[in-house]
Amino acid sequence: MTQSRGLSGFTGPDAPADEDLYKCVHCGLCLNACPTYLETGLEAESPRGRIALMKAVREGRATMTPSLVKHWDLCLQCRACEAACPSNVPYGRLMEATRTEMVAQASRSVPERLGRALGYQVLLPSPRKLRMAGVGLKLYQKSGVRRAIQASRILKLAPGGIYNLERAAPEIRGRFFIPRGQLLPARGVRRARVTLLSGCVMPLVHGPTMEATLRVLSRNGVEVVVPADQGCCGTLNVHAGERNRARALARQTIDSLMIDGIDAIVVASAGCGSAMKEYGELLRDDPSYRERAARFGKLVKDVHEFLAGLPLDPPRAALDMTVTYQDACHLAHAQRISKPPRALLRAIPGVRLVEMPESSVCCGAGGTYFLQEPEMSRRLAKRKASNVVTTKAAVVATPNPGCAIQMENALRQLGSETEVAYVVDLLDRAYALEKQA
Ligand code: SF4
Ligand code: SF4
Repeated sequence: MTQSRGLSGFTGPDAPADEDLYKCVHCGLCLNACPTYLETGLEAESPRGRIALMKAVREGRATMTPSLVKHWDLCLQCRACEAACPSNVPYGRLMEATRTEMVAQASRSVPERLGRALGYQVLLPSPRKLRMAGVGLKLYQKSGVRRAIQASRILKLAPGGIYNLERAAPEIRGRFFIPRGQLLPARGVRRARVTLLSGCVMPLVHGPTMEATLRVLSRNGVEVVVPADQGCCGTLNVHAGERNRARALARQTIDSLMIDGIDAIVVASAGCGSAMKEYGELLRDDPSYRERAARFGKLVKDVHEFLAGLPLDPPRAALDMTVTYQDACHLAHAQRISKPPRALLRAIPGVRLVEMPESSVCCGAGGTYFLQEPEMSRRLAKRKASNVVTTKAAVVATPNPGCAIQMENALRQLGSETEVAYVVDLLDRAYALEKQA
């Protein structure tokens, strides 16, 4: 079978598997779920087109030229196509495997290689260095330096990545959330005991939401442990094709979070939860972790999935607001979880949930996509923000840090005052009002 397809252009141990690649029957039923196809109308920017290019490289009919790789770069890895595919093509796995080949084979500019090394090899694996970068960003934003730089034209001369980072960097407002081995007891009768992932970006950018997650879990009878020795879970590395570094981070996350006597490993960020549920696949060739990784994956619960399944003890105070919900791709498509966050919002007295058009179409955040493909990212952000605005909701609720950051920027650029909040923020707000009632 392999011989009849010619000499493969994929060469590494993590290359796309034939049994995944040749599942695609080119029916095209995924096309209208794909944000880049919706925006461009081009076959090469569709899942089917990208799979066809993978097959061409696999069969030695094409090589990884910059123009070919560009079509894969433009993929958000949102996995909407995977959810839409009747043939169960594991598109996410295919693209992750393709990205590992791109890391090994595709030529990249020097600034791009340096940026990747700094992000994926230096900052993400080290919570301490990441916090230092967060402190630097906070100082830059709070001091007058940012205004001075923005007023000058210096940014226009900087490499593209720096310009895009400056434009899209999240506003760091609250305190950082730092895992220190916290143990928050359950309020009332204990219903469960869990460990909580802190993660990498979310505890720096949305530290107060991490605190809110602890309170909401505790209020629902859950004892929460936040192990101190945890770090980044490796999601961004997986998506970038940095698979060996991702494996090291996965092993560390398993060692840290899978402690005795827990009922679940709770994750507040949709992207992280999705990758952590797939650790069994990531570590399948590692005999010393394979089995634990598979067990770990089964213990991982997205916080909305977990709270809705408890089930939630609804707040007794009301919020009186109109809310729309933005599906995060790695919750709705990768984890197939879309009802629980909505059920939690509906459980808050006074919340009127209105659906936005195209809720499950990607907002263009895509991990670090907003840095690498800023134009498509901005187009999708604008599309999503416009859909939010049509609902006239006061708040757009999200389950993921990347989506929250992207929406804040996009809504601000549209001149909208719609607030962006996490679902757990709203729950926490309602529980806090109980004390005053
Ligand atoms: S990925 Fe699935 S839906 Fe898309 S063309 Fe292939 S078989 Fe059809
Ligand atoms: S992962 Fe998303 S952007 Fe990529 S091909 Fe599938 S639907 Fe399109």
